[in-house]
Amino acid sequence: MKITDIQTIEVIGHGYSTYVRIYTDEGLTGTGECIHGRSASPAIINDMKEMLINQDPMNVDRLFEMIRRAYIFDGALAGNVISALSGIEIALWDLVGKATNLPVYQLLGGKFRDKIRLYSDCGGSMDNPESCGKKAKEVVNMGFNAIKFDIDDSKNPYKIDAWNWSVTPGEVQSMVDKVSAVRESVGPNVDIAVDMHGRYDTSSAIRVAKAMEPFNLMWLEEPVPPENVDAMREVKRSTSTPICAGENLFLRYGFRELIEKQAVDVIMPDIPKCCGLSEGRKIANMAEIYYIAMAPHNVCGPLGTIASCHVCASIPNFLVLEWHWLGRKHWDELVITEKPVIENGYITLSDKPGLGVEINPEGVKKYLKPGTKFFD
Ligand code: MG
Repeated sequence: MKITDIQTIEVIGHGYSTYVRIYTDEGLTGTGECIHGRSASPAIINDMKEMLINQDPMNVDRLFEMIRRAYIFDGALAGNVISALSGIEIALWDLVGKATNLPVYQLLGGKFRDKIRLYSDCGGSMDNPESCGKKAKEVVNMGFNAIKFDIDDSKNPYKIDAWNWSVTPGEVQSMVDKVSAVRESVGPNVDIAVDMHGRYDTSSAIRVAKAMEPFNLMWLEEPVPPENVDAMREVKRSTSTPICAGENLFLRYGFRELIEKQAVDVIMPDIPKCCGLSEGRKIANMAEIYYIAMAPHNVCGPLGTIASCHVCASIPNFLVLEWHWLGRKHWDELVITEKPVIENGYITLSDKPGLGVEINPEGVKKYLKPGTKFFD
């Protein structure tokens, strides 16, 4: 089997997704989704196409590494080049699954679990503790047993200014009030994560992490920016609140120091953005030997989310996968499905070949980036 063509489409969902379709001389196709590369992704994928034409699509890891090394002078350490390559890699796995009549999780070594637990992001900072508590209850009533809130609020009246990364006592108290209202609303058995988006300095992060200890959080996310691993480790060592980071890191190399220094309790690679499925599994395996759990970041539509689920199924140290489409009604429209993709806060993996799901042309066409077209 030989690759004969690669095409992309641009779809607006929660974010800017690029879908990649790989065509072969045997008529089989594979489709992937990558995220966060904006209009760079289709351009980069089109540029990579030349290297892939006439290649055997069955050699997924080899093709990934061939392109990564070829683009090393063009930015392949991290960023848009890797996001584009991740979309290609996911499409290759879908294709190989169809060619072998096996689900992708089987090709990744088999599954530890049939159902993948999701947490729902509950949206940006709510105005007040009452609205946070109410929103948390609504989401738990949808079936989710894990939720996430943002607690960094640029409009907080107690903030010093928009640029200073020091937390004030008033700001800490308003964070505590919100998380307290959420814990009270959902009870003791729901997992709660809170995100600070790396917008605080080290001593501020430690103050917030310690203030969160009574609420038994699933994690506190990026209390400091992820690039200073020693600062992250200092926060982690100062508190019993679990610390999570990594949504903007790329490849094993990007996670190496964070994992080796045991600077976090949980890592959160965004698989369709930072690495693809094979590399995602390798990152999880690195984390596993340090007893670090993996909870992938994810803002993809159903195709990219299900691609991430295949990795989540194939690793022992999976904790929970993000879902970030609350309030966006077209989630189920984007794929061909007889039942909702998410049921009671879980995705059950299909045993169909490849990713086990196909995009729905009619649904997807409604959400194409204006002025762009669907696959030929
Ligand atoms: Mg985050």
